Amino acid sequence: MTHLECSKCGTRHDAEQIQTVCKKCGKPLFARYDLEAAKETLTRRELVGRVASMWRYREILPVRRPENVVTLGEGWTPLTPTPRLGETLGLKNLIVKDEGIIPTGSFKARGLSAAISKAKELGVKRVALPSAGNAAGAMAAYGARAGLEVYVFMPEDAPKVNAVESDVVGAKVVFVKGLISDAGKLVKDGIPEMGWFSVATLGEPYRVEGKKTMGLEVAEQLDWKLPDVIIYPTGGGTGIIGMWKVFDELEEMGWIGGERPRMVSVQAEGCSPIVKAYKEGKEESEFFENAHTVAAGLRVPKALGDFLILKAVRESKGTAIAVSDDELMADVRLVSRLEGIFACPEGAATISALRKMVDAGEVDRDERVVLFNTGSGLKYTDLFTVKAPVADPKKPFDYGSLR
Ligand SMILES: *Cc1c(COP(=O)(O)O)cnc(C)c1O
Ligand SMILES: [Zn+2]
Repeated sequence: MTHLECSKCGTRHDAEQIQTVCKKCGKPLFARYDLEAAKETLTRRELVGRVASMWRYREILPVRRPENVVTLGEGWTPLTPTPRLGETLGLKNLIVKDEGIIPTGSFKARGLSAAISKAKELGVKRVALPSAGNAAGAMAAYGARAGLEVYVFMPEDAPKVNAVESDVVGAKVVFVKGLISDAGKLVKDGIPEMGWFSVATLGEPYRVEGKKTMGLEVAEQLDWKLPDVIIYPTGGGTGIIGMWKVFDELEEMGWIGGERPRMVSVQAEGCSPIVKAYKEGKEESEFFENAHTVAAGLRVPKALGDFLILKAVRESKGTAIAVSDDELMADVRLVSRLEGIFACPEGAATISALRKMVDAGEVDRDERVVLFNTGSGLKYTDLFTVKAPVADPKKPFDYGSLR
């Protein structure tokens, strides 16, 4: 890494200092690398023998010294072909990047492994985070491993598991009567008194670096031929922004050409600021009032990187699609039944969106489509009820009723 650069105005910032957002315009900072030097050691042959985690791409990740890497083995998740789901939707080449098997159960682990590692390297001792759910659990786990003090602020109606997983690994949890935006304000207002470093989405430069490794893995796992379409459930947008960023880095290193997948941003109807801005032709989104959806990771009423998400969608000739909670919950069941992947609601939303694209003729039958299942359904058991008969061993059981 050579320096940090504002993603909006280009102002250069020192990467040896703790940084948050651009000092001039307040927008997110991007890490920049000496890609000429990186490609000397990051070679195809070299990759074969490397660790099966996102840290296999260390030349284009921000941590300088290996001993500062805080890892639980995150990344290098399977790219699982889903032929039965594909057939149902009328597609021949459907694949799921399954982030459900990652440490802490969601892809938030990637961003927080990178951000906590870099924070540790820069001497940070105390971190805080507003989170709609999964980021809290991930930060708490990586923070614990790094020996940091961790504070998480989450909406009081965030999935229970996120409070539990944070608490158990030793984070201080605060429930907020409100949304992630309210939690964000509380973290910010606490800085003068508590002196913590906020790891809020795109409020620091390194979570996006962790998340960009999803794009690297998709490229490597498909033998450096990017898919035709990538469908991504979007909250704060770090994943889509990170992938879009790293595709340029890959091109600059000569690993891929100028072709890009169509990037599709999926949101829930109850919280779809990006979809709204996309449809209205705007460069930035507006705050989405009364945001609500069962897909907690998508409940972000205004993303700091909204303009970057919209840019990726437009430049790639992708689209932005909203789906209802009923649709995405039905698709959790569908992909689980057909493929054995118990997806999270956010991940299943990509299926609902894909169905709409197929119906509108926006995807061809032969195109290679990658869906992102961003977390495990096991973190969302609150949302499900099981209708099952009860057997009493003292009485005869009516087996026929099971058919
Ligand atoms: C946070 C989250 C998202 C949204 O991710 P962004 O990169 O912030 O857009 C999607 N799915 C799950 C499970 C999440 O936890
Ligand atoms: Zn700027």
